[in-house]
Amino acid sequence: IKRIVLASRPLAEPTPENFRIEDVELQEAEEGDVTVRVLYLSLDPYMRGRMSEAKSYAAPVPVDGIMEGETICEVVRSRHNDFAPGDIVRGRTGWCTGAVISGDMMRKVETHGAPITTAVGVLGMPGFTAWSGLKFIGKPKKGETVAVAAASGPVGSMVGQLAKLVGARAVGIAGGPDKCAFVKDELGFDAVVDHRSRDFASDLHAAAPNGIDIYFENVGGHVWDAVFPLLNQFARVPVCGLVAQYNGHDTSDADRLPAMMSAILRRSLLVRGFIQSEFAADHFNDFLDEIGPRVAAGEIRYREDIVDGLESAPEAFIGMLNGKNFGKLIVKVDGV
Ligand code: NDP
Repeated sequence: IKRIVLASRPLAEPTPENFRIEDVELQEAEEGDVTVRVLYLSLDPYMRGRMSEAKSYAAPVPVDGIMEGETICEVVRSRHNDFAPGDIVRGRTGWCTGAVISGDMMRKVETHGAPITTAVGVLGMPGFTAWSGLKFIGKPKKGETVAVAAASGPVGSMVGQLAKLVGARAVGIAGGPDKCAFVKDELGFDAVVDHRSRDFASDLHAAAPNGIDIYFENVGGHVWDAVFPLLNQFARVPVCGLVAQYNGHDTSDADRLPAMMSAILRRSLLVRGFIQSEFAADHFNDFLDEIGPRVAAGEIRYREDIVDGLESAPEAFIGMLNGKNFGKLIVKVDGV
């Protein structure tokens, strides 16, 4: 099989040299293992964190270790009672074309009839992130304004559409005219603002004339700067991701912190970070039952950006951290 390992740790933006593709033999399957061929690899912003040594909520990938990631696979051989050859499953095999892995670590793909790729996107971890962050922290109500950046991506697109379903006003923030058109016309957000525009801050103000009640934080950086003055009293800020800062840019927060703390106090803001896994064990199935049929029926829309071949993964991943992806980024892996 082929696999991609972390060759060295990036200092700022990752480069292709930080990755290495290798040929390795599959290990022997033991009792309880399944042998899978990988069909799709999900690329997600959190992987940038795993490339660094810094302590986070999960251990870093060791140098020369396989890059972490979730894949959709087909079972080829099974020594686990719950799985049979031909089953479509998902699990954390990492960036590779095939694996021998404990069946206990895998889950059958269930998409209510939607394509299997949705199991790592709109009906997988990113969709659940949006759903749980809104349900347990943001709690949007009818008539409130919900703003979210990376609005064409798998998390942001779901945030805006769920906000619309409860009767809130959805304001998207995205990079460039194509993504903005998609967010407004295809996803049905009430308004969209291009964060690359020179007039971004005033455009955002115009798009949220009554201020912002829920800001679902996906990016940080200059987007947060523009959002912050618009937060209403009792606004809620689920802090989900800070992708603008993952490569080490755009982090002058130290200067701004006193003013921010003061506003958090004066405006009674709720700022609450979360990692979706804190809610997943108890609520993932509820999410799937509620959202799966809506996705399958075309009521909730999504977009996928599928690139071909495991060897394309590093470049596609590097691009995602700069907004080059348009929709949920997935690598089609013709695993063996
Ligand atoms: P996306 O597919 O939306 O990809 C990231 C997007 O971020 C880019 O396409 C780009 O969109 C935007 N972006 C990148 N750099 C900047 C920048 N400097 N300024 C503004 N926008 C930028 O990603 P996901 O939907 O998978 O993830 C969205 C966020 O959610 C990420 O921060 C991720 O880490 C986080 N997350 C958190 C989880 C949790 O449990 N807390 C779980 C899953 C995701 P554009 O071109 O429109 O700006």
